[in-house]
Amino acid sequence: MTETALLPTAPLRAHAQIDLGALRANVRALRERASGARLMAVVKADAYGHGALRVARAAVDAGADWLGTATPEEALVLRARGGLPASTRIMCWLWTPGGPWREAIEAGLDVSVSGMWALREVVRAARGAGRPARVQLKADTGLGRNGCQPGDWEELVGAAVEAEGAGLLRVTGVWSHFACADEPGHPSIALQLTAFREMVAEAERQGLRPEVRHIANSPATLTLPESHFDLVRTGIALYGISPSPEVGTPADFGLRPVMTLAASLALVKHVPAGHGVSYGHHYTTPGGTTLGLVPVGYADGIPRHASGAGPVLIGGKWRTVAGRIAMDQFVVDLGGDEPEAGAEAVLFGAGDRGEPTAEDWAQAAGTIAYEIVTRIGTRVPRVYVDDEHVNEQPDG
Ligand SMILES: *Cc1c(COP(=O)(O)O)cnc(C)c1O
Repeated sequence: MTETALLPTAPLRAHAQIDLGALRANVRALRERASGARLMAVVKADAYGHGALRVARAAVDAGADWLGTATPEEALVLRARGGLPASTRIMCWLWTPGGPWREAIEAGLDVSVSGMWALREVVRAARGAGRPARVQLKADTGLGRNGCQPGDWEELVGAAVEAEGAGLLRVTGVWSHFACADEPGHPSIALQLTAFREMVAEAERQGLRPEVRHIANSPATLTLPESHFDLVRTGIALYGISPSPEVGTPADFGLRPVMTLAASLALVKHVPAGHGVSYGHHYTTPGGTTLGLVPVGYADGIPRHASGAGPVLIGGKWRTVAGRIAMDQFVVDLGGDEPEAGAEAVLFGAGDRGEPTAEDWAQAAGTIAYEIVTRIGTRVPRVYVDDEHVNEQPDG
């Protein structure tokens, strides 16, 4: 668990501040952008590292109708412990044989089925549970990952129609996922939309009447209105991060980053010129200088690939990781400045206090911002702030 119910009163080594007010505002901005569709807040992977239970509650509060997770276990925890209205739909899509189908049916989850083995397992579980499963059929319209191939779709739909007729399940959704929505104009996007329409039409031709048809992730929600259908599934945008710099900046879409990662400097000291810094001595001080010790490392999710490159805001100035990022700590060259031990080092945040963003770290590490926030480790307490909530009117 990454949620911290009770914080120590002593200053923290490091913490990830989660701005639930920003999260709610992002939910509202996304609802507005996809006003013809319902909104699924994707809270898999502990809400991309932000804390699934707190984020789920705030998102539902701000108007998300659905929650989405990858694994059934994530979804079951939300249903059991989320304190969510019973009307909140929860969907999970990453199943393996022998999964907790019966528990999912009893918890009223929407489960995804991509092939015949899964349909057989869910039907068996529904018989045992004595109530119908809510099943969403997943089509592979071109991603080449999970989902049913077009050539196998007729058979899967046929089997689902039969099970629906027998009262064992209700097909609540037909859905798919994009491969390249974060590259606006990529030719695969139009091809996937066409394939999706055809696969939905085939499902309807065989008599299915899904409540929701959906394919849009964050980039499609932001850039491709014709992909919105009945429901959009937003993950990264919810957390105020752009799916890619190519799509735009968060501010372009009225989004604000939710997570700020900060640490307290553990040590500031003077060193002479020519002093090697950190494992392997990949940095050597060019002259007499001061070094600051930032007490977070790759065990906290700070990517080691950002060694020598990651940016940190200290005392109003951007500093760069000097040498290797170690398991628990890294060093910055403070260029002779002498902040006190305990001074704040902001690794990333919303960017409007001059601090770097998760996107800056992604570029320093050669990865995507999704990975930066998702990997922040359990040793870093999440601290929730919610300035806005006091004045907020319940939605609708
Ligand atoms: C993670 C995920 C999403 C959310 O993607 P974002 O790009 O973060 O919006 C949507 N749908 C599926 C199937 C996913 O796995």
